[in-house]
Amino acid sequence: MKDRHIIESIEKTSMPKVIILGGMHGNESSGIEAIEHTLQLLKKNQQVIKKGSIYFLKGNIAALQKGERFLDKDLNRLWKKSYILDEKNNISEIRELKELHHLIVEKICQNNFEDCYFMDLHTFSAQSGIFCIPSGNKKSLDLAASFQIPFIEKLAESLPGTAITYLGNQGVTGVVLEGGTHQTQQATENLSAGILHMLATIGVIDSNWNEVQKAQVRLQNEGKKYPYHLELSYRHQLENSSVFKMKEGYYNFKRIEQNEILAQEKNKNVSSPTNGFMLMPLYQKKGSDGFFIVKEIKDIYTKEKS
Ligand SMILES: [Zn+2]
Repeated sequence: MKDRHIIESIEKTSMPKVIILGGMHGNESSGIEAIEHTLQLLKKNQQVIKKGSIYFLKGNIAALQKGERFLDKDLNRLWKKSYILDEKNNISEIRELKELHHLIVEKICQNNFEDCYFMDLHTFSAQSGIFCIPSGNKKSLDLAASFQIPFIEKLAESLPGTAITYLGNQGVTGVVLEGGTHQTQQATENLSAGILHMLATIGVIDSNWNEVQKAQVRLQNEGKKYPYHLELSYRHQLENSSVFKMKEGYYNFKRIEQNEILAQEKNKNVSSPTNGFMLMPLYQKKGSDGFFIVKEIKDIYTKEKS
């Protein structure tokens, strides 16, 4: 199966199908590096592959070449029927969207989503943190919980036009993995660990392989630093990111108080509407959200003892 978005595929049996995508945002090269690292490991240890087909994809190719988040529009806000079927609009990201959509939905999943898995690799501009975002269905939530790192409900649904929500609505089991700060070795290693964990959890690779065990210990150790099960409490959406300035010193999962001043927007203070934890404070030029606030949920999901 040849396509410019396929980095490489490993096809052992037809099911399950696992799609691992890096570089949905062109400035997030760690996802591509993690894929390349994982591919090398798998090629050297082919005996660990038990079943299924793994497709390693790159997202926004034109933006990756320039090292920019996107050229015209954020590719991860366009996953809607209106854009996918848009015949007139020929901007760079619409072309990437149509190709990726055709590849994933028609060629790989063949419109049969029950046994399809999707992992979308990302990094962020803030310092510290690792977390995952499940799509809205129960299988995705269970998968997200298995990483032993923070996982955040209701976040994917709050962001219109993301691939995770679009594919999740079709019945794909999927998670976004946010591995760490842009272009850091730590983010690449976290994303690599996440890929191995996901492949082992689905049963595609041998979970007793020492590389899987190392990866899972890494995720557990990273996860220990942060709250575990959270949900979105507030999203600070931006119309124009050039008039927004986050105050210095915020990072993922920093505790914040109601009314705390978090940013400046059009020279006015932006204060927190609620208590909670900071998530994805914007410290880069391009972006459609200034920050998110999340709250911890105590419930049936508990971390495994390490
Ligand atoms: Zn991203």
